[in-house]
Amino acid sequence: MNNDLLARYENIVGPDVVEQLRQMASRLKEARVLHVNSTRYGGGVAEILRSMVPLMEALGLSVRWEVISGDDTFFQVTKSFHNALQGFPIEFTEKAIKIYEENNRKEFEKLEKFLREADFVFIHDPQPAFLIKFMPERKNRWIWRCHIDLSRPYRPVWRYLKNIVVDYDASIFSMPDFTQPLPQPQYIIPPSIDPLTEKNMELPPEEIKSVYDRFGLDPAKPIVLQVSRFDRFKDPVGVIRAALLAMKFLPFQLVYAGGGAADDPEGEIVYQEVLAAAKDHPDIHILYLPPDAHRTINALQRAAQVVLQKSIKEGFGLTVTEAMWKYKPVIGGDTGGIRLQVVNHHTGFLVHTPEGAALRIRYLLFYQDKCYEMGQKAHQFVKENFLITRHVRDYLSLMLAFVCGNGERIELEAL
Ligand code: UDP
Repeated sequence: MNNDLLARYENIVGPDVVEQLRQMASRLKEARVLHVNSTRYGGGVAEILRSMVPLMEALGLSVRWEVISGDDTFFQVTKSFHNALQGFPIEFTEKAIKIYEENNRKEFEKLEKFLREADFVFIHDPQPAFLIKFMPERKNRWIWRCHIDLSRPYRPVWRYLKNIVVDYDASIFSMPDFTQPLPQPQYIIPPSIDPLTEKNMELPPEEIKSVYDRFGLDPAKPIVLQVSRFDRFKDPVGVIRAALLAMKFLPFQLVYAGGGAADDPEGEIVYQEVLAAAKDHPDIHILYLPPDAHRTINALQRAAQVVLQKSIKEGFGLTVTEAMWKYKPVIGGDTGGIRLQVVNHHTGFLVHTPEGAALRIRYLLFYQDKCYEMGQKAHQFVKENFLITRHVRDYLSLMLAFVCGNGERIELEAL
């Protein structure tokens, strides 16, 4: 057990929370856990696994994280599946299915040993979901962890994926709205952030201020920020529109900080669309950041007065959690996991249009006391609900449910 790491979490969430994790994990000693996803950098899933794996290990479990690889065609296909599962009709061809299944077969050959050895296999999202089809005689538990908004999928693609997902022993969704009728147990586990990472830890004030110089920002104007991959679901063009509308009434600068993800081939095209929409406006700053710019994003989130996440679809929106943790109220699209985090008028505002976002930007920049108060509530809300310690507790509960069976009560020592 890595007590140093656990002690650092204790400092933030308190000793009782960590003690509960220790007790739950003690029932799972030597359990071998394998996580499989499709990218080690970029995007929320990689972000979560980077923290979850060491914390589970610190608690005494034996944890591996494997990443499936693939060429551009594979990721184009899986990106189109992703878009379809979030509701967009796509051209769903036999060829695409073949590319998807064939790549999973190749990856299965590489990962077979680990997939067999593990007691619990967590498969994240659709990219590696088909791996299960190559192990029909398996004895271990396989759990499909869906991070995306499956509430209104494009049916032909969901029908196909459902045929794969039904083989799993359980599935996990981020919120009830995303579940679909499935025969196996479904668990609701929202994602989380890690307060100890470079992305979320406290920073010295000079480092926060340094973003003005580094990115040519105006120290006299407040920052309104959105951090997102260049992805249409994040509505970057709507963000620019909202900023341009609000800038007619009061001075501020918009920073849109984004980058790509290894499994997202559309980033470059959307980036060009965003540049075109910004039209070299002096108060709109489009930053294309490398995937490891965690401290920079942290500093930008801390330097900002207000944070936007104007997505039109969002599985969860870790960027929302990150900003709220840094005491920022968030103006978020009224969709998916943003609704779990932005409690309208308390921890931020939910909006439907660029006009709505513009109105809320004006409100929060004008009423600074309200902005401060909402930021405080936002931080507390994340502390209580969306930190990695709660997330790991939920995963431990799920594994314990398998180990103990449904009938047995899980006895923890009284705290
Ligand atoms: N992120 C990043 N660089 C970027 C854009 C995003 O490091 O250029 C991070 C962001 O801080 C967050 C994660 O990637 O931790 C994105 O997760 P989210 O759930 O918001 O969206 P996803 O990209 O998974 O759709």
